[in-house]
Amino acid sequence: MAHFEGRFIDRIVVLTGAGISAESGVPTFRDADGLWEQHDPMQIATPEAFMRDPDLVYRFYNARRARLPGVEPNAAHHAVVRLQREFAGDVFLVTQNVDDLHERAGSQQVCHMHGRLQAALCTACARSTPMSGDYDGTTACPACGTSGSLRPDVVWFGEIPYYMDEIETRLADCDLFIAIGTSGLVYPAAGFVRRALQCGATTVELNRETSDVSGLFHHQRKGLATAVVTALVEELLAA
Ligand code: NAD
Repeated sequence: MAHFEGRFIDRIVVLTGAGISAESGVPTFRDADGLWEQHDPMQIATPEAFMRDPDLVYRFYNARRARLPGVEPNAAHHAVVRLQREFAGDVFLVTQNVDDLHERAGSQQVCHMHGRLQAALCTACARSTPMSGDYDGTTACPACGTSGSLRPDVVWFGEIPYYMDEIETRLADCDLFIAIGTSGLVYPAAGFVRRALQCGATTVELNRETSDVSGLFHHQRKGLATAVVTALVEELLAA
């Protein structure tokens, strides 16, 4: 239980986006230095793109996966771990990120609504298998042995994110909704603040800039994630 901006808080939902990993050196979606700058996301992160040019899509995700061992969680990921460990109530962490930095910081429960870079989904047996190295259209599924059936286990534009039922339940039941480093442009995650508000939650946005949905939040704290997330967690744990 904590006291925040005039109310008691028992259940928290934390939504993270690419901005929490930016200071670790993982490019965000739209930043000028991003991995995406050479690619139109609609030409690479859709089921149609995969059908049209699977090799390009495999190469793109293999390159992003290969960069993960070279980056480390930052103070914002660690602050979220601290909140999960030390807050007396419930903290549900849902991320749009496909990197593994929350887990490497020490978060035990991470709801990866957009999947994970370090996994492959078999279109033959529907199983997800952890994958730390490259794979492509010739790789056999480790679970069922079928060749040519693996695709990145990431949710592409036009696909339904994972765990939506559980996320809805958590949003409907939370007292505090915190959005960290997300642009508010990608739905359904961009709609979570509206759902939390409908259910009576207090809402806080932590972002270095104004997002597409900033105006909906009760509170906005502008700044780099490493600073503003750490400060908010301190405040919640002290209250
Ligand atoms: P986005 O790139 O659209 O937005 C990033 C947001 O983070 C922006 O609002 C920006 O102002 C903010 N930001 C950037 N650096 C910040 C910092 N240091 N501190 C605080 N805020 C900062 O990303 P999104 O909203 O997560 O949505 C885009 C989609 O792209 C998601 O579906 C996600 O799966 C995918 N994606 C994931 C990763 C990753 O796994 N790390 C990286 C890029 C894109």
